[in-house]
Amino acid sequence: MEGIKIEKVDVVIVGGGPAGLAAAIKLYEKGIRNLLIIEREKQLGGILRQCIHDGFGLTRFKETLSGPEYAKRFIDQVEARGIPYLTDAAVLEVTGSKVVTAATREGLRQWQAKAVILTMGCRERTRGALGIPGERPTGVFTAGVAQAYINLYNRMPAREVVILGSGDIGMIMARRLTLEGAHVQAVFEIQPYPSGLPRNIEQCLHDYGIPLYLSHTVTAIHGRERLTGVTVSKVDGHMKPIPGTEREYSCDTLILSVGLLPENELSLDAGVCLDERTRGAVVDEHFQTNVEGIFAAGNVLHVHDLVDFVSLEAEKLAEAAASYIKDGKLAPCPIHVRTDRSINHTVPQQISGTGKVSLSLRVSRPFENCRIVVRQDDMLVAEKKMKKAIPAEMIQLPICPEKLAGHSDLEVSVEC
Ligand SMILES: Cc1cc2nc3c(=O)[nH]c(=O)nc-3n(C[C@H](O)[C@H](O)[C@H](O)COP(=O)(O)OP(=O)(O)OC[C@H]3O[C@@H](n4cnc5c(N)ncnc54)[C@H](O)[C@@H]3O)c2cc1C
Repeated sequence: MEGIKIEKVDVVIVGGGPAGLAAAIKLYEKGIRNLLIIEREKQLGGILRQCIHDGFGLTRFKETLSGPEYAKRFIDQVEARGIPYLTDAAVLEVTGSKVVTAATREGLRQWQAKAVILTMGCRERTRGALGIPGERPTGVFTAGVAQAYINLYNRMPAREVVILGSGDIGMIMARRLTLEGAHVQAVFEIQPYPSGLPRNIEQCLHDYGIPLYLSHTVTAIHGRERLTGVTVSKVDGHMKPIPGTEREYSCDTLILSVGLLPENELSLDAGVCLDERTRGAVVDEHFQTNVEGIFAAGNVLHVHDLVDFVSLEAEKLAEAAASYIKDGKLAPCPIHVRTDRSINHTVPQQISGTGKVSLSLRVSRPFENCRIVVRQDDMLVAEKKMKKAIPAEMIQLPICPEKLAGHSDLEVSVEC
């Protein structure tokens, strides 16, 4: 861009949520000091700023924290080390040659980085993505928007509520809305199993007497200015509404908790290949994308169940990125990780076979008394026995390099 001085840095981190913060702190500890976090919001912390309930940090800190408390532990470390960051600054472009352009309070700025770390998080699927027929009244919110109204802006958006989708944010909002005096009539889930964590079903729905109806969906939205009600139908095994099962619910608010989508517009512009199942980048065990020197972690890579794993993943990324900056290269990763239909996805998708690596994966439907197995040329190289495996829970499966022979693909599947 003409007239803009290009500044030189070792690493630009795009996004100052838990993934970006953890990556920055680890890079600093590894001796990479010429780095910059760029965050488009006014404060660091990512989406955790609005998650004021507790339950964060159990894995990492062995204590239960609220979202802001969890984020503050990392922000304090960034401040204490004097790691540079810009807030109110939106990254507009990342090129394949690692030039980063951002709109900042001082105007447009550009950096040439040796490595770029993508930690932009995810956004929620909206009504538009579902295509529910009906009117376009106010009163249809995603769970995150309702959460922001209540927790950040002290505004009560609802009185009589129906929730579509049993994602974790929706269930957490069912409890929050109830505590704030609203009446949550029910949660409807189109799948035959819940999409959120069992602990949230227990603590947010059962404890408050809120019913969860599986294999149900909203098939019409009513109301001209404000929502007046929704039609709910049962669905068949192909998730098609069954005629004659319609039931009307009178309500002023429909909360949608129907999935999260990684924010990958910048990644695509940089030439990063995406995995059609995770909708995040395809990465190797160093969390490096197909574009050398561009790395990704956190919810922009794949949607996590717990923030603790986001931080751990970003720290592993930072270790690899620090080696990349110091040595100019990383071990090649020629072994591809494939799955059958029982597994929704794995991250990483490629490994070196020379270092210990942990696969993060999700099953595509619930299984009981099963084994998650990894085979190479039909030889068992790793397994995990599970009483219950559900899509809502991310599973970690370590693979030891000593068990691998050659560069053949790994095949991951569920055996019952
Ligand atoms: C609405 C919502 C509510 C959630 N509630 C919970 C919950 O209650 N419990 C739980 O365990 N998990 C919750 N999650 C999941 C939670 O997002 C993750 O656990 C964790 O915050 C992911 O960390 P992250 O750093 O990958 O992403 P985020 O926390 O989303 O951080 C990404 C950051 O990148 C910034 N960014 C994005 N694009 C740009 C750009 N172009 N330029 C500059 N900055 C950019 C964003 O502003 C954001 O601050 C929620 C997620 C959402 C979307």
